[in-house]
Order: sequence, then structure tokens, then C-alpha cells
Amino acid sequence: KPVLAVVGRPNVGKSTLVNRILGRREAVVQDTPGVTRDRVAYDALWNGRKFTVLDTGGWEPSADGLAGAVAAQAEYAMTHSDAVVVVVDATVGATATDEAVSKVLRRSKVPVILVANKVDDDRLIADTASLWSLGLGEPFPVSALHGRNSGDLLDAILAALPESPKDTFGVQGGPRRVALVGKPNVGKSSLLNRLTGENRAVVDSVAGTTVDPVDSIVELDGQLWRFVDTAGLRKRVNFASGTEYYASLRTKAAIESAEVVIVLLDASDPIAEQDLRVLTMVVDSGRACVLAFNKWDLVDEDRRHAMVRELERGLVRVPWAEKVNVSALTGRSVRKLAPALRTALNSWDQRVSTGQLNSWLSDLVAATPPPVRGGKQPKILFATQASTRPPTIVLFTSGFLEAGYRRFVERKFRETFGFTGSPVRISVRVRE
Ligand code: GDP
Repeated sequence: KPVLAVVGRPNVGKSTLVNRILGRREAVVQDTPGVTRDRVAYDALWNGRKFTVLDTGGWEPSADGLAGAVAAQAEYAMTHSDAVVVVVDATVGATATDEAVSKVLRRSKVPVILVANKVDDDRLIADTASLWSLGLGEPFPVSALHGRNSGDLLDAILAALPESPKDTFGVQGGPRRVALVGKPNVGKSSLLNRLTGENRAVVDSVAGTTVDPVDSIVELDGQLWRFVDTAGLRKRVNFASGTEYYASLRTKAAIESAEVVIVLLDASDPIAEQDLRVLTMVVDSGRACVLAFNKWDLVDEDRRHAMVRELERGLVRVPWAEKVNVSALTGRSVRKLAPALRTALNSWDQRVSTGQLNSWLSDLVAATPPPVRGGKQPKILFATQASTRPPTIVLFTSGFLEAGYRRFVERKFRETFGFTGSPVRISVRVRE
């Protein structure tokens, strides 16, 4: 069963929320400081799905101070659960302890849901906006006491929890997940063979089901990588009918289960409609991405010239992706893939602090204000990076921002902060 951990400083209403989640009214155990409970895991059921709730309330506070204790609690929750709910008191706002906990949780590889508790009344919802500054994404307003919004919260929790608990390779600390995609005959299986042949294939084919070995774990450049869904590549399956539809479903699934995607393109051939469809899937998925131009051994001077303009048009949606020219046939530059993957993942995981972001933004807006609309000058009030994977920036504004200006903000953002190899999402929230 997947495990949900509930963390937060004392008196924010954790126990009340745990009771809500468990669907009962009586207190589990009183929130008594210093008292360690003998039972902290409870069985929960919602919409027919079973999960375990880990109530970390009993461990607070300890000798090394409240912030330290709660941060340690968050650390524990992160490594022992499949999703974390962090509870803050909306009537108080973000405290220093909440900041300390958030700082720990921002490194979390499991999903984190930020709950703004004690929102007993609609008028309080506006106040929860300030909790974006914790950098944990959108605050979820609830009233654990009155049950307000708790059904919606449970739905969100179920959506965040994986169907089954994490596997032994683990999301955490395990090899990072790579998808190798591209149109048929671009050289996917040749490249995979090259990578597993030249380098140690540590666990060749990890059993996903009893019949079908699904992934390959490969060591590249001193690091383990999990190439997802390589079964199809190895078997060179040929489907007589419905090939494209099937291939595209499989590609989509591989992308979704990966963190970073190698899009393989054929350098000896013009970029095709199929390549663009794959690229669109990758961009829409929000995954990090590396572009590998295969069959570089076939590229001559003429072809290279022709490519320049092709790429300008073909790759407009991924100007931020690193390009590596390889040949699966000769092995040329194949070793450049691992550093490119690493760069892309670092960007994908990267976080810009709210302070840095806002000082950069105020300079930008002062130099180039957003265009006036309907006689009004929209103001950008505040920005925060709501999440990583992919990095998502939320701009709070006083009015509508044109798409052109958003693109300008993204371009400038990349000029300053980099983020090579990762998409960056900019979302705008208009505050009335
Ligand atoms: P897949 O369908 O994407 O898995 O493509 P394959 O790996 O089966 O390769 C398709 C064809 O391209 C095969 O005939 C390979 O030998 C050839 N091929 C793959 N990589 C290269 C390369 O770097 N250079 C050249 N010249 N041919 C390649």
C-alpha cells in the first residue's frame, strides 16, 4: 500500500486533518508535546483505494529546537512515504518553522501537497496566496475541523499517490530514468546496443512483468541510468498494421515514465513530420530533453549547410535543448550523451529562490514594462518558482499579460538563470 506522510509544526491541526483523512471524528491521540506515540501508521480508504497514513505528530518538539525537530520529521517523511502532506496554519501564515520544513521538502523526490488549514471561511482563501512563497506549489485551502474541501484534498492525495509503492530501485537515489525515442529506423536500437555494449550493462533487462523485461540499467560516465521501456527496442518488433498508432502510444508511455528524454533524429535526412510529433510530445510532457543527431557519419558538407535552416524551423519549440551529434554505427561522440543528460536533469531540478527571482524581475520590468492593454498598464506584483520538474514560475499580476511578453520573460529568464535542457513553464495569475 502506498504511504502518505503528514507533517507540520505543532498546533496547525495535523491530528484533526489525519482524522479527516481517516474519516473519523474522535482524536487519534492528543497532540501532546514530547510524547512518542506507539502507533503512527493508520489504514485509510478513499474511493475504493487503500493507503497508509503516517502521522508524524508525536515526535515534536525535541531538545534541538522546534524548527530542527520538524525539519527532521519532514526528512523522515520524505524517505518513508510515497507522498507528503505538509500542513500550515492559514490564519497565521508562513512561520520560520514552516520555512525550515519547506526547505527540506523542496528537495523531495516524492510529491508534496501544501495544505493551508483553518480556512473556515471563503474570505480566508485570499490570504493563502502568500503561502506560495514556501515554494511548494499551490496551497490547498481546507478546514480540517469543519471538513471543508477535505473531499477535494483526498482526491488530490489519491492522484499524487502512486498505484503501488515505490519499487526496489526506488525513485529516490535510484538511477535516473531515461527514455530513448525517435521515429522508426532512426537508430534507437543501434544506439542502445552501442551504449550497453561499450559500457557495462549492470542489470540487463529489469523484469517489469514476468514475460516482458522492460527497462535496462546502464552505467554511463560513472553513473547508473535506467533506460525505460527498452523491450520494444531490443525485440525490434514489427507490427504489420496500426504501427504508427501503436508506436506513438508506446513512445508517449516511455516519455511519461522518464525524467529525461533523448530524442533521436536522423542527421542524414530532413526533419520529418514524425520527428516533430515526437518533439511535441516531449515538450508537452514537461520532461527534460537532449537532442541527439544520429548517423552523423553520413553527414557531408552540403548536408550540414542544409541542416542549419532546417533546424531553425524544426526546433523552434526546443531552442533550450542541448544538441549532440552522434553515430551509433561508429560510436562517435556517444560518450557526450551522459554529460548532456546530467545538465538537462540539473536544470530540471533547479530552483531559483524567490528573492533572486523578484530582484531579477523588477529590473526586467523596469527596463521593459508589459505592453498596455485597454488603456491599463498591467503590473507584475510578485513571482515565485512554484515547482521543479519541470521548473514552473508563477507571476502574480494586476492584469492580462500578452503571450509575446510571456515569451520575452521566459527568454530573459533563461539568459540569466540558464536551465539548459529543461522546459520552463511560466504561468500567470491575475489578482483583481
Ligand atoms: P530504430 O528503428 O530506431 O531502432 O533503428 P535501428 O537501430 O534499427 O537502425 C535502423 C537502421 O539505421 C539500421 O540499418 C542501422 O544499421 C542504421 N543505423 C543506425 N545508426 C546508424 C548510424 O549512426 N550511422 C549509420 N550510417 N547507420 C545507422
